[in-house]
Amino acid sequence: MNTSASPLALLGGTPVIDAPLAPFRSVGEEEAQAAAQVVRGGVLSAYIGAAGEAFMGGPAVRAFEAKAAAYFGAKHAVAVNSWTSGLIAAVAALGLEPGDEVITTPWTMAATATAILHNNAIPIFADIDPQTFNIDPAAVERLVTPRTRAILAADIFGLSADMRALRVIADRHGLKLLTDTAQSPGARYGSGFAGLFADIGGFSLNYHKHIHCGEGGILVTDDDRLAARLAMIRNHAEAVTTAQEPSELAGMLGYNFRLGEIEAAIASIQLDRLKERVASRQRVAAQLNAGLAGLPGLRTPQVTAGSTHVYYVYGMVLDTQQLGLSRDGLLAALRAEGVPGLMNGYQNIHLLPVFRRKIAHGTTGFPWTASPQGDAITYAPGLCPVAEELHARSFLGLALCLCEYEPQDVGRVIEAFRKVWGQLDALRA
Ligand SMILES: *Cc1c(COP(=O)(O)O)cnc(C)c1O
Repeated sequence: MNTSASPLALLGGTPVIDAPLAPFRSVGEEEAQAAAQVVRGGVLSAYIGAAGEAFMGGPAVRAFEAKAAAYFGAKHAVAVNSWTSGLIAAVAALGLEPGDEVITTPWTMAATATAILHNNAIPIFADIDPQTFNIDPAAVERLVTPRTRAILAADIFGLSADMRALRVIADRHGLKLLTDTAQSPGARYGSGFAGLFADIGGFSLNYHKHIHCGEGGILVTDDDRLAARLAMIRNHAEAVTTAQEPSELAGMLGYNFRLGEIEAAIASIQLDRLKERVASRQRVAAQLNAGLAGLPGLRTPQVTAGSTHVYYVYGMVLDTQQLGLSRDGLLAALRAEGVPGLMNGYQNIHLLPVFRRKIAHGTTGFPWTASPQGDAITYAPGLCPVAEELHARSFLGLALCLCEYEPQDVGRVIEAFRKVWGQLDALRA
């Protein structure tokens, strides 16, 4: 049935998409066999928290790490039980002092910024670039103070941040550079993969990411010293500090961030699927780009020269003035047509209560009550105007991580957009 001619579903017509699309599913028989093999072997995790061979984990963990290092072109890969753990470990590996500042982005998942707080350091939020939604290097540069120790970028929605510009700033001020590539595994950045242009980068392996093993993460670094520190932090650092190099490694706070053998075995298989998962997302995005081209007041995702995009999120920007409609009005109409994965803005991490009210370390005493200039660090609205405007008014996202899209499904998503855009007058009235 051609539903485009019917009235908007929001106004009582027939929706374009009337049944849910197939949910995201990327595991199959090979993963089942890999998991079963570990279970039959009986050793589901082979770590020991004391010095020695087993400090670095069991055979499936090590095989996965070797495979990930080779795949991404990193000298070291360190598996962890989630990417949230990975982020905490990455910041911890830098050895910051309480109150040191780390510049990060408000357009990411909360874990990027809370990893800084977990290490008693202070997140400083730099605004984002309105084209890419990634941290804006010029905004970063303006926020560097004598207390700044690192930049923690995020490669958001599937596209690398501007790592070359960030590296120039980091080098100029003697800062470390980290990145959160949870949403962009397999994206290209120049000659290599996104995530590999930082001192430490890494990827999430949770169910919603391009590849997954249930829960997990993988850190990548070319730095021997940082890799050793990450491995220590992952596995109760204090247990072996005396057996290693006390002067360098003593005093670190360790955790249990160990990935299990079953998850590692599954993750190894999943890594083989990454290339195809990326290609399939890119096919979906190419079809959307073609199908949505020319809709007035709608900007489809931008891809920086020299990069590829892997479309965790298909991020669009609306010109609500030109459209004469609010984003929320359009979103309601699209949602009524059955479009899955619509995102009403994204994030403004700096405005979460944990930051705005500065309560994570209690309300007195923590160094974030005063900056070196003597004025209090605040996380009030207005801090990141580009991010705030996009979040409040003009960003419209399509999360592509929720469904398996066949070309006909993408076709129906496009049809829903075109139907809504064809009846904007009815919507305005
Ligand atoms: C998913 C995600 C994380 C957290 O990863 P987990 O493996 O779920 O802990 C961190 N940052 C970003 C940008 C993410 O998308």
